[in-house]
Amino acid sequence: MSLEALPVVQGKYNLENYEDTCANFDWSDTEKQFSWYETGRVNMAYEAIDRHAETFRKNKVALYFRDDNREEKYTYRDMKILTNKAANVLKTHGNVEKGDRVFIFMPRSPELYFAILGTIKLGAIVGPLFEAFMEGAVKDRLEDSKAKVLVTTPELLGRVPVEELPDLKSILLVGNDIEENDIIVDFNKRLAEADRKLDIEWVEREDGLILHYTSGSTGRPKGVLHVHNAMVQQYQTARWVLDLQEEDVYWCTADPGWVTGTSYGIFGPWLAGASNVIVGGRFKPDTWYQVLEDFGVTVWYSAPTAFRMLMSAGDELVKQFNLSELRHVLSVGEPLNPEVIRWGLKVFNKRIHDTWWMTETGAQLIVNFPCLEIKPGSMGKPIPGVEAAIVDDQGKVLPPNRMGNLAIKKGWPSMMREIWNNQAKYDSYFLPGDWYVSGDSAYVDEDGYFFFQGRVDDVIMTSGERVGPFEVESKILEHPAVAEAGVIGKPDPVRGEIIKAFVALLEGNEPTDELKEDIRQFVKKGLAAHAAPREIEFRDKLPKTRSGKIMRRVLKAWELDLPTGDLSTMED
Ligand code: ATP
Ligand code: MG
Repeated sequence: MSLEALPVVQGKYNLENYEDTCANFDWSDTEKQFSWYETGRVNMAYEAIDRHAETFRKNKVALYFRDDNREEKYTYRDMKILTNKAANVLKTHGNVEKGDRVFIFMPRSPELYFAILGTIKLGAIVGPLFEAFMEGAVKDRLEDSKAKVLVTTPELLGRVPVEELPDLKSILLVGNDIEENDIIVDFNKRLAEADRKLDIEWVEREDGLILHYTSGSTGRPKGVLHVHNAMVQQYQTARWVLDLQEEDVYWCTADPGWVTGTSYGIFGPWLAGASNVIVGGRFKPDTWYQVLEDFGVTVWYSAPTAFRMLMSAGDELVKQFNLSELRHVLSVGEPLNPEVIRWGLKVFNKRIHDTWWMTETGAQLIVNFPCLEIKPGSMGKPIPGVEAAIVDDQGKVLPPNRMGNLAIKKGWPSMMREIWNNQAKYDSYFLPGDWYVSGDSAYVDEDGYFFFQGRVDDVIMTSGERVGPFEVESKILEHPAVAEAGVIGKPDPVRGEIIKAFVALLEGNEPTDELKEDIRQFVKKGLAAHAAPREIEFRDKLPKTRSGKIMRRVLKAWELDLPTGDLSTMED
């Protein structure tokens, strides 16, 4: 079925009158939805959990959890009690107080979510760390943030250089047979005996909530601080964009170590009162399809890298599952290749809706909201209440169809408030005119659709033409032999830069010179002669962040024999 022939998703909270809504919308309309609008008492965890536990949702499943060993579910009422208990453990055994940093370093499990929300209930700032971080990465983050308490597992404790972290006072271990001492606390034992009642710490909307160290596609990780006020936009986008409704079963595949796994793995869905599926363990195509079928997932938020892996697993596999309950599919994190959109139409009979945002932005900004006609290759339009533009390096707004800096007018509710310990870095995000500059290059067409072109640092200048790596990668990906592609500019005395492509092949294809030439011709005919890679190198795998993004800076460093910089976020 073609994109045009498929009816658009009719969201319940839809933006059919997008222009009208944009013209009349005010974030204070959204603020009225929260209990603090009346009571003046703010806490994210209260709005996301406790509030529902006091309504008809109290016995509704808030969390479905599955991994290789566990299958559990918790209602909103259960979640209220367990997060109260977790908060009491943190308070009693970690002396956690408002403003303290509590880091969580463990694989996905229900306890991880109790600990995150428990921390927030105390008004402390939570720092989620991806379980695969090695010692250096863990140390950098705990040191930079001066974390006071760490929640982790016995297996991961070996990667925590406790003696080198003077600010770290307590370690809560989630596991069996824990031996307690001055520093070590048995989390599960203490959780079982903890009081189920808690006086939540009420905070200001501008108080710290979460500290995310970003994935590091572009360099050294930085601590991005978000505040409780982020809930305003996270809630509104959970309605408008995820289209979460009362009956929905929602699955976000991201780990809470990345912002998608918190903004839309925790806050958005629970603020909206949805049933939230959380799956641990490693990615495997068949177990993922099984999750969609078994839980009757209706709304699914994932990433291009995952879709591409499912694509590589073949169309026969997906046919073995009943995915009829799925109604809305969304993507984030990397450009959504048109090839992937076509695959989604073929196997799910669904449009995949792209969403663009960043760790720093805290919530979605430019999206293909449910009822918007999708233009493949475009991430959509700004949500109401957000002003986006393409600006030059001086902050001057550029006309349609000109590539430039993708920028957002400062002041959306979920914007980061600080780069931890680094005011200069924070200031460097802004240009005159109160433009927040994303670091991505893009253009906007006459209809107001935004098209991602690449990270500014990745844009290639070849023979006087600006080429975005994404377009070239997407074209290469359409070649029937290709599984993944990463494209960089390689310095060249004549052309400034030439385009070099690193390509991983689908199983069953031989890496021959003929195939290289075939791919080159394929791009030349399908895109443009100047965009065809002059050099192609086959690799078994491409370097990626653990959140699944191709690390072009690493490809470039390898190619040019330069230092690769921080690799803490790279997959094994
Ligand atoms: P770091 O900033 O540490 O180098 P990162 O930029 O990869 O890491 P994130 O904040 O997780 O960390 O990712 C945001 C970036 O991901 C965006 O700036 C953009 O480059 C890319 N991105 C996110 N969503 C999309 C999308 N829908 N289309 C294209 N690119 C996207
Ligand atoms: Mg970034």
